[in-house]
Amino acid sequence: MTTDPGLIRFPHLLSPLKLRQTTLRNRVIMGSMHTRLDMEENGLHKMTAFLTARAKGEAGLIITGGYAPNTAGLIEPGGPILTERAQARELTRLTDAVHQHGGKVCLQILHAGRYAKQEECFGPSNVRSRINRFQPQAMTAAQIEQTIEDYVRCAGLAQEAGFDGVEIMGSEGYLINEFTVLYTNDRTDEWGGTEENRHRLPVDLCKRIRAATGPGFIIIYRISAIDLVENGATGEEIDRLAQRVEAAGADVLNTGIGWHEARVPTIAYPIPRAAWRFAPRRLKSVVTIPVVASNRINTPALAEEILAAGDSDLISMARPMLADPDFVRKVREGNADRINICIACNQACLDRIFSDRSATCLVNPRACRETEFDEAPAKTPRRIAVVGAGAGGLAAAAEAGRRGHKVTLFEASGRIGGQINLARMVPGKVEFDEMLRYYGGRIAEHGVELRLNIAPSADELAAKFDAVVVASGVHPRVPEIPGIEHPKVMTYTDLLSGKRNAGRRVAIIGAGGIGFDVAEYLCHSQPGERPKARGLELAEFLAEWNIDPSLVKPGGLSGDPLAPRQPTREVTILQRKASRPGATLGVSTGWILRSSLAKRGVKIITGVSYRSIDDAGLHVLVDGTQHLIEADTVVVCAGQESNRSLFDALQASGIEAYLIGGAKEAAELDALRAVEEGMRIAHAL
Ligand code: NAP
Ligand code: SF4
Repeated sequence: MTTDPGLIRFPHLLSPLKLRQTTLRNRVIMGSMHTRLDMEENGLHKMTAFLTARAKGEAGLIITGGYAPNTAGLIEPGGPILTERAQARELTRLTDAVHQHGGKVCLQILHAGRYAKQEECFGPSNVRSRINRFQPQAMTAAQIEQTIEDYVRCAGLAQEAGFDGVEIMGSEGYLINEFTVLYTNDRTDEWGGTEENRHRLPVDLCKRIRAATGPGFIIIYRISAIDLVENGATGEEIDRLAQRVEAAGADVLNTGIGWHEARVPTIAYPIPRAAWRFAPRRLKSVVTIPVVASNRINTPALAEEILAAGDSDLISMARPMLADPDFVRKVREGNADRINICIACNQACLDRIFSDRSATCLVNPRACRETEFDEAPAKTPRRIAVVGAGAGGLAAAAEAGRRGHKVTLFEASGRIGGQINLARMVPGKVEFDEMLRYYGGRIAEHGVELRLNIAPSADELAAKFDAVVVASGVHPRVPEIPGIEHPKVMTYTDLLSGKRNAGRRVAIIGAGGIGFDVAEYLCHSQPGERPKARGLELAEFLAEWNIDPSLVKPGGLSGDPLAPRQPTREVTILQRKASRPGATLGVSTGWILRSSLAKRGVKIITGVSYRSIDDAGLHVLVDGTQHLIEADTVVVCAGQESNRSLFDALQASGIEAYLIGGAKEAAELDALRAVEEGMRIAHAL
């Protein structure tokens, strides 16, 4: 008998679990995610390809994005809904495809409640959410009864479509969660007031779905394990809700962390890995059914450790499955070190979804585009040079190598990574190291020759290669301000690379993504300290946002998450435009940065005109008045300029050359665009 190599290191993660008549092949759940794929043309086809790749990659159980049980429950007009038999018939294509690869799949039923982005928006009470412009109407008792019937119909249709079960979405501040807490439920009828009344909706849903679907169908209840909003549930209330839904027929308790409107970050890079494991640990002590841990669990080693410690029975990963569809297969085959790890940047998944585009993944541009990229090798292997080993160059070299080309990757500095080596210095962005580890591993695996400390000339390249991909990146823009050569002035590359140190009073020229990141870096380090890449420690994170893991206080908050903090420095960010600073920050992470800086008294001044820099500091004109920003250090974060001279020389010599990433277009450069361009060019070669 052969044993899977991964079993030795990951015995808990790879052990099967029986749920009613279904056996999951391992403990990994691909968590529900609203990708918006199904809203595209040929949406079901694309969604099927997306989920099938994850089933092939051996995820134990897949949970679909949320399907509304009725039109009022739609997350947005045109969103996924399951109300008719014809839809169920179509969905059998998806369930069959997942089953063919040994996977199991549950449909999530999600009623958006007062988060629905539409006029027809309902909640237990007419309390509007600060993140939705639509005013909810309080549901009548008849509407509540009809909604329960709609859930039951939806679950029945899911069963007809071949799903192994359903997940009832009871967390994140959606309808069911709104009923369970006083924050949004001020009803005085049988659906509000007492705790038992507030818990009636989830309990009735579990009971009636169980009755309608029979004993073999899996029912997962996703409970809000910590609300992170004022007047949310206490730990004891959550314990009793968990026990009630277990008694009502739920087979598994999944954990949701925080409402969407919470002012506490829950999944982005500033959150320490596995920060929320206390929540499933607590639930496991009060129920007998399996409990799922979720949020910021991105490596197999961490997942194994959580299971081995008994903190949960299953691990839910949504974004890590975007980053690598073969996550579990690699674990089983003993290749865990080859996993493409999610770096919690949110740039290509949540930020795209929030701006009405389909999700993909920064570290894996194939995600949700499985029908676009083929895996086939190139028809004719060629000699390819890639110049620049930043994000774009690495992606281009790795993919061209995978396709069978003979690739040489040149890098002028002594290490791979380019701008990522700077980004990783921002608190929490040390996660970018995973990206460098992954792409570094892939170039080695695919036989790419890496040549560091070399900047080849156009003639050298023309002599030895069939085609050249120029990914030579950017250099910081240095504006012409009188005194810019003063010793107190430095670029962000000087600062983040550790070449220079900043003093206590710092003025930052430029309020883009890098200006904000530099301010965050400065606020989490002391003057004179040597720079080091770090994330927040758990205790630091809990204290930073006033999170009470004992859940004694309602919502699990021990105070105002935005309460001021002791600043380590005096920081001022400046911008010439009068418009809102930080306009290019990610939707799902920008608010975290803004809050962190505001808590530390960072000043932001817009509409400035730079006059000069001298011993006293930075002199600016605002509204026609002269101001002095007293500063020991001035950091220039004024955007970048492309390094494209090599490309121009290659073009002049007539060799086939391609320009990607920041070298192509410095404005709005980020790793997301660079990696995608690298991948696409590698497919065109
Ligand atoms: P950016 O976002 O374009 O910001 C450049 C800043 O420099 C602007 O505030 C601009 O404002 C100022 N500036 C431009 N030319 C100037 C000049 N000649 N003199 C003085 N100031 C000047 O660029 P970035 O901050 O370098 O970021 C690069 C890319 O990375 C962006 O796409 C950004 O979104 C992305 N990024 C995002 C994050 C994040 O989301 N957390 C973090 C890092 C980077 P004024 O012209 O009005 O002065
Ligand atoms: Fe993870 Fe970033 Fe990919 Fe989203 S885009 S799945 S956060 S790596």
